[in-house]
Amino acid sequence: TYVIAEPCVDLLDKACIEECPVDCIYEGGRMLYIHPDECVDCGACEPVCPVEAIYYEDDVPEQWAAYTKANVDFFDEL
Ligand code: SF4
Repeated sequence: TYVIAEPCVDLLDKACIEECPVDCIYEGGRMLYIHPDECVDCGACEPVCPVEAIYYEDDVPEQWAAYTKANVDFFDEL
């Protein structure tokens, strides 16, 4: 799955939502989240993010590693 990290916080550009073919990017408070079970790993969202907030799960920068878990937790709590 792909993960959205810190640059999205309080920005929510939403260009990624337009690109996602399976509509698995959801708005949640201060940022957007990608549903880990619905994402088909197509990668379409990554290049359109103006602040490079989106990464494949194995490529999330170390300093934003917590966002991978935060993304999963967001949907677990719904
Ligand atoms: Fe949607 Fe593809 Fe991005 Fe996954 S990788 S969130 S399916 S656009």
